[in-house]
Amino acid sequence: MLDLIIVGAGPAGLICAIEAKKAGLNYLILEKGLLVNSIYNFPTNMTFFSTSKKLEVAEIPFISHNEKPTRKEALEYYRRLAHHYELSIKFKAEVESLNKFDEYIEVKTSDKTYQSKNIVIATGFYDTPRTLNAPGADLPKVKHYYDDAHPYIGMKVLVLGGGNSACDVALETWAHGAKVTMAVRKPTLYSKVKYWILPNIENRIKEGSIKAYFNTTVSEIREREVVLSTPDGPLILENDYVLAMIGYQPDYRLLDQIGVTYKENEDLIPNYNSETFETNISGVYVAGVLNGGLKTNSLFIENTRDHGEKIVKNILERS
Ligand code: NAP
Repeated sequence: MLDLIIVGAGPAGLICAIEAKKAGLNYLILEKGLLVNSIYNFPTNMTFFSTSKKLEVAEIPFISHNEKPTRKEALEYYRRLAHHYELSIKFKAEVESLNKFDEYIEVKTSDKTYQSKNIVIATGFYDTPRTLNAPGADLPKVKHYYDDAHPYIGMKVLVLGGGNSACDVALETWAHGAKVTMAVRKPTLYSKVKYWILPNIENRIKEGSIKAYFNTTVSEIREREVVLSTPDGPLILENDYVLAMIGYQPDYRLLDQIGVTYKENEDLIPNYNSETFETNISGVYVAGVLNGGLKTNSLFIENTRDHGEKIVKNILERS
């Protein structure tokens, strides 16, 4: 019988584990992929919006060459955290089912069944891209993850979305020689596009280097073309790749399985106590960016760093 199982070895899961270890709890992280799997899958040349100071946790300094760290520096930092605290992590251990009993929670992976008095679900949201409702959305040329500009050199690329990812990807692929068109379903770019990105993308659009269609959605994706639905009617464009930078959403399967309910139906924010992070199911906690539900612009690594400490404090107080 474990005191605590943590699902997910992302930043939030690691912080929970560090706090659990410091408190002497018998804990284990179950991770279906790699250490900080989401960060590993961020664009190769990505620089964080937060400063390294704001990402730092557990008295371990976050060293970066500039004020804002790169993906590579972040990977180094989280490796260091896991190593320094000798965290117990089982990789390639995807949680398949959760069952709540009176005294414990049963956690099943493909090869093992665990029993734990408490569980933290810290699975983030980056594993499940928002879906595109258009014929052809499942063609291999439609990408929901972007890593590097190189494959797009000389290609006709349609970037979907008007958020930070879409603007970043449009600018980077254009700068490397792709012919970039953007389709944004709103009348303008997203209001929270960072102030150091916005003038660059707006100027590229103004000068015509990047063609942007607003109030526009994609209505069909074909092998060599896309059909856009614009305010002036349908528009067919030649196309090699669709980079669907339309965001991500949490995977709700585990929460649903164990009976966690939602605060606001529309945003699917899990029902949890904002002081303890315990959900409506006793012994079941949620941590990290998952807690923002579909409002994926509300929580970040930097403003979820206290979740682990509060969860472990609550577990200790109740035991
Ligand atoms: P996002 O902020 O959720 O933006 C998604 C965009 O796609 C919005 O313009 C949205 O339009 C549009 N969209 C959603 N569903 C759509 C659909 N079915 N069809 C067409 N358009 C659709 O996602 P994001 O830009 O990936 O950003 C996610 C988070 O990562 C944000 O917190 C962002 O700040 C962060 N980020 C960080 C970095 C960095 O640290 N370097 C870089 C990029 C992003 P509506 O507004 O109409 O919903």
